[in-house]
Amino acid sequence: MRMSQTLIPTLKEAPSEAEVPSHVFMVRGGYLRKVAAGIYSFLPLGWKVVKKVEKIIREEMDRAGASEVFLPAVIPAELWQESGRWDQYGAQLLRFKDRKGGDFVIGPTHEEVISALVRSDVRSWRQLPLNLYQIQTKFRDELRPRAGLMRGREFIMKDAYSFHVDENDANREYKKMYDTYQRIFTRCGLAFRAVEADTGNIGGSLSHEFQVLTETGEDALVACDACDYAANVEQAVARPPADPQTASEQCQRVPTPGQHTIAEVSSFLGVPQTRLVKTLIYLADGQPVAVLVRGDRAVNEIKLRRALEVTELLLATDAAVREVTGAPVGFAGPVGLKIQVPIYCDLEVQALADFVVGANAPDAHLKGVNVDNDFKPTAFGDYRTAAEGDACARCATGHLHAHRGIEVGQVFFLGTKYSRPMGVTFLDVDGLEKPAQMGCYGIGVTRIVAAAIEQNHDKDGIVWPVPLAPYEVAVLELQQDDDNVIATSKRIYEELSAAGIDVLYDDRDERAGVKFKDADLIGIPFRIAIGRKGVAEGVVELKRRNGTEVRKIRIPEASALVAAEVIAERR
Ligand code: ATP
Ligand code: MG
Repeated sequence: MRMSQTLIPTLKEAPSEAEVPSHVFMVRGGYLRKVAAGIYSFLPLGWKVVKKVEKIIREEMDRAGASEVFLPAVIPAELWQESGRWDQYGAQLLRFKDRKGGDFVIGPTHEEVISALVRSDVRSWRQLPLNLYQIQTKFRDELRPRAGLMRGREFIMKDAYSFHVDENDANREYKKMYDTYQRIFTRCGLAFRAVEADTGNIGGSLSHEFQVLTETGEDALVACDACDYAANVEQAVARPPADPQTASEQCQRVPTPGQHTIAEVSSFLGVPQTRLVKTLIYLADGQPVAVLVRGDRAVNEIKLRRALEVTELLLATDAAVREVTGAPVGFAGPVGLKIQVPIYCDLEVQALADFVVGANAPDAHLKGVNVDNDFKPTAFGDYRTAAEGDACARCATGHLHAHRGIEVGQVFFLGTKYSRPMGVTFLDVDGLEKPAQMGCYGIGVTRIVAAAIEQNHDKDGIVWPVPLAPYEVAVLELQQDDDNVIATSKRIYEELSAAGIDVLYDDRDERAGVKFKDADLIGIPFRIAIGRKGVAEGVVELKRRNGTEVRKIRIPEASALVAAEVIAERR
């Protein structure tokens, strides 16, 4: 492509709202323009990268035996009512009416549409298994769209849905998609890790997320340093303490005037935070419950919600806390609650002895408190968020370490979560009607683009790996007034293009300095600079975007040499 004939509007400055490198460089490099919060136009460079990601995904999904379909973005509400998600999905679901007053949504995901399709056209076990995928625009009305393509409201997803006669076969496909995802993200040149994950809005019983490891990632992860256990902290489990401590103290009330927070109480009483126990009051589907975790820990609301088997879990308001405890916030405890509510006690607290809790009275705490002696929990369980340094629950020796990641894909084993309510059934070999076992598998196509830049950039711009680069080679024509320079540039551009290489030919009427800067900003992996002095000597200069070495190569050999190096790095 001749740069003079396309639209690559590079900018010196990024808009102030762009904070992360991928957002900054996609705007400055002329890849992307904002239309509204979380809604973007892709310019030619941006769209080329999206197409490269899509191509890798299509090749690998096809290789895995999946078939591509294309489902509508606009979906009638009835399908969402059938699955129950019309009520459950919440404010992220963009709902609207057509001219006849019918309710519709713009699909944030497509389990309903695909289930409706398969239930009407698949009747027999002979038609299974089936894996159908699409690459399509999704809309989620995210509360806080951020970081450009990272969390958009409109974005492109690859979503696949598979249907099976039994759980075994669904598990086989899950494993196959897991492996396919490993291939896809490897081909995209990403450093990533598969982690165990919560199933969130999609549901089901088994799930892995594919996380691109980077400090700007929104997701907190932990990974073991000894075994291959890795999980999103939403879900991560740490090894519970082995031996319970022995109680030796009597429960005793101590004054703690004005000491509300764990840190305050800890320093006031001279007791480490690990010997303090926090009591949090939650409303679980509207019913108050007390939850106990060690003072230095955080309640993991996702685990708690699962353990309690409720759909809504809200931290109680100050007024509700007062009502349950009879004390202001900061002095709640499990002993002598004003209203007796169920008490859920974390495993670490179960193992603790002689600890400190709030006294359910203003300005007072209790010391020397012990489970069973002083209060009886309703249940014990793992209700806390795993943290850096925790012992691994999977192996005997390892410890968990914290990482940050960008979720670029997720695979789910769904079982019959959708097939039962939506009647996706088939006739089995023995003539019995059964619900299909399902799996679903998503990839954030546009998020991959952002994640790849987060992992591949420097202060001057993007440093694309060859497989995702919008162009593989930049040909810089350094002097516009020199016929030899122009002829040589054009020759190399044409030779490389003929060899099937993606070339961006900077033939703009710009200074050499501008061309060098733009090539770095855009991030093309190979740069060939063609200047007056070199051409007179019969050479051009080759430089890799990810290196510093400048190689002089002879003009007649230049194209073949560069083409070979590019092709070697395609995956
Ligand atoms: P998140 O937890 O980041 O909100 P999710 O778990 O809700 O994502 P899925 O339903 O698993 O998302 O969707 C499949 C993939 O689509 C995700 O792995 C992610 O890569 C991508 N994705 C989801 N939401 C967005 C978004 N708002 N913008 C861009 N990509 C997204
Ligand atoms: Mg997800």
